Amino acid sequence: MTTYKLGVLYGDGIGPEIVSATVKVLKAAASKAANGTEFVFIELPMGWEGIKKYNDPMPDVTKQGLKETDGWLMGPHDSSAYPDEHRLFKRNPSGELRHCFDLFANIRPSRTFPGTKSVAGFSDLIILRENSEGFLSDRNMYIGTGECMVTPDVALVTGVFTRKSIERIAHEAFKLAMSRRKKVTIVHKANVIRLAFGLFRDICYETGKKYYPEVKVEDVLIDAMAARLVRRAGDFDVIVTENLFGDILSDLAGELAGSLGLSPSLNTNGKQAMAQAAHGSAPDIAGQDLANPTSMLLSAVMLLQWLSAHHRDPRLNEIAKKMEDACLGTIADGTVTHDLGGSASTTAFTDAVIKKIYQLS
Ligand code: ATP
Repeated sequence: MTTYKLGVLYGDGIGPEIVSATVKVLKAAASKAANGTEFVFIELPMGWEGIKKYNDPMPDVTKQGLKETDGWLMGPHDSSAYPDEHRLFKRNPSGELRHCFDLFANIRPSRTFPGTKSVAGFSDLIILRENSEGFLSDRNMYIGTGECMVTPDVALVTGVFTRKSIERIAHEAFKLAMSRRKKVTIVHKANVIRLAFGLFRDICYETGKKYYPEVKVEDVLIDAMAARLVRRAGDFDVIVTENLFGDILSDLAGELAGSLGLSPSLNTNGKQAMAQAAHGSAPDIAGQDLANPTSMLLSAVMLLQWLSAHHRDPRLNEIAKKMEDACLGTIADGTVTHDLGGSASTTAFTDAVIKKIYQLS
């Protein structure tokens, strides 16, 4: 029996609902596969739970605990609602983990599924968001933040772009493209922010030309990209961009594909990985059994696929496939949550996915 240790951080808002649904589905898929792998789930506090227990939304005990895991499920957090002492001048919980564990690559797929109503026609793309620097000023400095106020009426914010970070995200993008349709789109704003985005664009091109000559490369300005995604999302395969642009574009792509509730993501540093829904904590529907857990479920599928490749253990892929097939099959059958125009509760959808796991061969 091979044991994998997975951290479980429930988070705030709809977090506990979608994370516990995901753990249930993962357990069912592993038990159906019965292929000599087992998971140990290590629950660690985060968000309001961390504040209540340790006066910290991302306590040291959680960071230490995660070091011992192979990867983890990270629920969303409602950090804008935290008291000032936990909100001002501090990274939010996922920013803190991305920074502490140097989770530099944020992989955010967006695709249309049978049974969902896409706003922009067919799409099957992945956004590779550089996760450690760019314009996200709470995590782009070694000490302190890249933001300050010179006077009460003057605020400054710094963007950081380094060769090392651009090269490593470019490699991730090209490697992914090699396993897909072999096309990379670099998104930037080098017509105005010439030096920083010029560096980003040029290093991505250099990396592609030198190491992945089979991959077709193009570059598009961020404003044009927002418009093109709405009109022709199906044109894109892998999109690589900086932190802030990636954050915004992936919400747009997720909603265009049908709902933010379908948008998974994986953050990785090449040694460990963090599965995280691409959306926030949706406080407007929290605690009402209304949330769509698909985003978190598919993030867990990505985590298992990543662990399978990392540990060269195809059994994890087998479990991931069972989860994915059952989740997409349930949606295709028309059992969908409110965000997709259906009436299934979080619990009913989760139960239907588990039932499907046992029905599928
Ligand atoms: P936060 O402050 O944590 O970012 P938010 O509500 O501002 O929360 P999101 O959580 O990204 O931002 O939600 C945006 C909208 O999408 C909300 O109306 C929310 O209800 C909806 N939404 C997000 N995730 C889901 C989901 N998993 N299922 C159903 N609806 C969702």
